[in-house]
Amino acid sequence: MTSTEQACEHRNHMETKRLVEKDPPPKTDDLILITGAGGFIGGNLALYFTQKGFTRIRAVDKKPLYEWYLKVPGVESLCLDVSQENNCRRVCEGAVEVYQLAADMGGMGFIERFRVECLRSILINTHMIEAAYRAGVRRYFYSSSACAYNTDLQQDPNVRALKESDAYPAMAERGYGWEKLISEMFCQEYWVERGMKTLIARFHNVYGPHGTWDGGREKAPAALCRKVIEAIDTGKKSITLWGDGTPTRSFMYIDDCVKGIDMIMHCDRLIATPINLGTSELVSINELLSKIEKIARVKLKRHHDLSAPRGVAGRNSDNTFIKKVLGWEPNTPLDEGLAVTYKWIKEQYYNRKKGKRVVE
Ligand code: NAD
Repeated sequence: MTSTEQACEHRNHMETKRLVEKDPPPKTDDLILITGAGGFIGGNLALYFTQKGFTRIRAVDKKPLYEWYLKVPGVESLCLDVSQENNCRRVCEGAVEVYQLAADMGGMGFIERFRVECLRSILINTHMIEAAYRAGVRRYFYSSSACAYNTDLQQDPNVRALKESDAYPAMAERGYGWEKLISEMFCQEYWVERGMKTLIARFHNVYGPHGTWDGGREKAPAALCRKVIEAIDTGKKSITLWGDGTPTRSFMYIDDCVKGIDMIMHCDRLIATPINLGTSELVSINELLSKIEKIARVKLKRHHDLSAPRGVAGRNSDNTFIKKVLGWEPNTPLDEGLAVTYKWIKEQYYNRKKGKRVVE
């Protein structure tokens, strides 16, 4: 660690330090609020807590209910826009824990093209954290992103994995990344100045069933699964990749993501301290496609669209900190998670083809 990094880490630690009062362990009838629950991670989180025995879950999303990926039985599901202050107050009422996963977001194609929409998610996070504070919520979870990291450190496919201190000096991804960084700061200050326990995870790409797989917001794993399925279905035998396929990323399976959220949320050591939540298995987009081809038992001719959005050259998660604090890191092998995801997207694809209503 350089002396600047050491100084930065020391300052962050000092600035977020405050006496942590122990709170009681969560009870299964505590009210849990999940915003963005009609989306991929929020929906899977509602399912996770239901399966864990929690009986009072309030799920909120601005999308109409028929567009939610998962509607979990027994969960109070509300269609409300949480960029509006009055709705935030309404949904936070009585909540013991808040999981804030609502954001206007998507894969690279979306966040590069719609920076204003991404920035406007600041309204959600500003109103939600204030409403949670006023409602006396015990803990507040915020879903940040690896896009908050300094992009100068991500210019090479053989990138050094990003550790938590690499967000500063700040040079986040334009639009989406800066919004995440400032929302993280809100969380830190609500702890320091107001004593609300806030927890912040920087997700690296998450994939799995019950997420976006078509329509422009999908991320690379889902997009490539769908394109392979299409190529097989149409007999085209070829596929178009965005960029030259050399950029590298790590991909975390959804089950690891929801488990990690739970562990982070209930760890006092992590209050107001952003932490990576991702795998450290770095693969290129070309390699990712080869894995999907293997699952589909097909080999396609590759075309590269060099004018398409490509994002940073490389990005990986340094898991030293999470292993130290939680004694755990996301560990579902990519091949395993991709096989499940491919199967789910294939089902959606053919259901849509048959005219059945599916959520894309
Ligand atoms: P998603 O798009 O599937 O879900 C987000 C949901 O938020 C959507 O259903 C959307 O309708 C809802 N939403 C947007 N604006 C809203 C509003 N004003 N009021 C109510 N609901 C609103 O995305 P996801 O993959 O589930 O991501 C969840 C969170 O995790 C987001 O904050 C995202 O930035 C973050 N994240 C995700 C990834 C990933 O790989 N999926 C990576 C890094 C960070």
